[in-house]
Amino acid sequence: MKTDGRGLQIFCPQRMERSVTEVTVEQLRKMGVEAVLLDLDNTLVRWQGRDIPDTIRKWLQELREAGFKLCLVSNARFGKRLRSLSTELNIPYVRKAAKPSRQGFHNALKLLSCPAHKAVMIGDQMFTDVWGGNRSGIYTIMVEPIARREFIGTKISRVAERLLLAWFRRRGDI
Ligand SMILES: [Mg+2]
Repeated sequence: MKTDGRGLQIFCPQRMERSVTEVTVEQLRKMGVEAVLLDLDNTLVRWQGRDIPDTIRKWLQELREAGFKLCLVSNARFGKRLRSLSTELNIPYVRKAAKPSRQGFHNALKLLSCPAHKAVMIGDQMFTDVWGGNRSGIYTIMVEPIARREFIGTKISRVAERLLLAWFRRRGDI
């Protein structure tokens, strides 16, 4: 396993994709996955957005119909938007997950009654989604952010993210 918890490997996603929609039901089934944990901002919707793109809506529906358990794991502070998107999509959520803390991931797995090794985490950020997922023993898939607009702190962390991704690529880790 690539992420053995030593050194920088804890930041390395197991897989990278352009969008969540690249992750197929068939692939997840082959992996023996039961639960899919999802970041919200810039993974499913634009940062602070409320509109779910049709392609993503359709993808979520496919996953649900295939029997996967889903949960939103977000650091969002504004519970109202998260709550309404959760209701609209009919997907439960963990709020103030404080990623990369393990707590939010732990809560999500508990909520879905799923062990870490049967879950995947999909998100657009290395230092929250990927790091937290890896620390929790969850397979991590990093996707490209939906839009460029994001929190200023995120823009700063993108610099380190890019450097690490280049390093992982050189090593052949991803
Ligand atoms: Mg995000």
